[in-house]
Amino acid sequence: NWEKNIRKTVPYVPGEQPRGEHIIKLNTNENPYPPAPGVEKALKEISAKRLRLYPDPACSVLVEAIAQTYGVGTDQVFTGVGSDDVLAMCFMTFFNDTKPVLFPDITYSFYEVWADMLRIPYEKIPLDEQFSIRREDYRRANGGIIFPNPNAPTGVELPLADIEDILRNNPDVIVIVDEAYVDFGAESALKLLNRFENLIVVQTFSKSRSMAGMRIGYAIASPVLIKYLNDVKYSFNSYTMNETSLAAGRAALLDQAYFKEVLAKIIATRERTKKKLKEMGFSFPDSRSNFVFARHETCPAEKLFEGLKEAGIYVRYFNSPRISEYLRITIGTDSEMDEFFAVLKPLVQRLK
Ligand code: PMP
Repeated sequence: NWEKNIRKTVPYVPGEQPRGEHIIKLNTNENPYPPAPGVEKALKEISAKRLRLYPDPACSVLVEAIAQTYGVGTDQVFTGVGSDDVLAMCFMTFFNDTKPVLFPDITYSFYEVWADMLRIPYEKIPLDEQFSIRREDYRRANGGIIFPNPNAPTGVELPLADIEDILRNNPDVIVIVDEAYVDFGAESALKLLNRFENLIVVQTFSKSRSMAGMRIGYAIASPVLIKYLNDVKYSFNSYTMNETSLAAGRAALLDQAYFKEVLAKIIATRERTKKKLKEMGFSFPDSRSNFVFARHETCPAEKLFEGLKEAGIYVRYFNSPRISEYLRITIGTDSEMDEFFAVLKPLVQRLK
């Protein structure tokens, strides 16, 4: 009868990760382009002999490259195995078990799962009619605040002035801005770091740097917050990145020209995709990310999701209140989006 004595977790339901030749994967916001060419070279140069040793717990090679890229001190950077791990570490470090953390109702569902797992109370704050975060709702937090910017799965950006307002009104709690998608056209809160010691910005290599498979995430904040994070991290050994990730991550950061070129391509494809979706009767909040969160005026999202999947095209469908009429479509290459529309058009005609 041991079951009554164990913790029960309501699991986070991740997007499918199908493998296969004829699949177009527009369901988990990966980048359709390969990482910078230097990444492949860095991977080849790693000697297996090196793997005998534990990796550098301070992840110095990568921390230095991140600090240099963003013009901050190395004491302002914290790294982890994907931004999920960095976020988990932030929850452990900065939120407590008595005062609720605030986050939007309709957001990255991982926050709720982690809060539950760590027994952190939370309050989910509904978005407005346009799926935007209302800054007034975040003026009296006493346990902490976290939100993605742009938000997921909506893609909506919270303007920097609103983030500043939230920070100004909350000097006594930690505010985490999860910028997984910020490089696709939103404004980063990194600019506010000098003025707010309680701000943490979390970013990832999984989206804009095409390295979801490598698992690299990082936080940038004031040195005092990074020290708190490290105190928790060094109590474990599982959150240190391996040698391969450190070298590959550094190589990706060295090629900013390639990074910008990929971003420009994805943003151009996103705008083209929005136009086509609109012509076909879809509506969507304005996305500043590498996905579009779209709803058709008459066709049920679940049916569209299933029809696309039958043709080997994976998008994301969330069977949850208020968003069950929407599909989240990751922006792929131009030719992937052409194939997507070639399947979507007759499907919409059929279901209309
Ligand atoms: N934050 C948000 C808002 C996300 O959508 C994701 C990706 N699912 C993550 C963080 C985590 O990404 P990763 O662990 O790959 O860095």
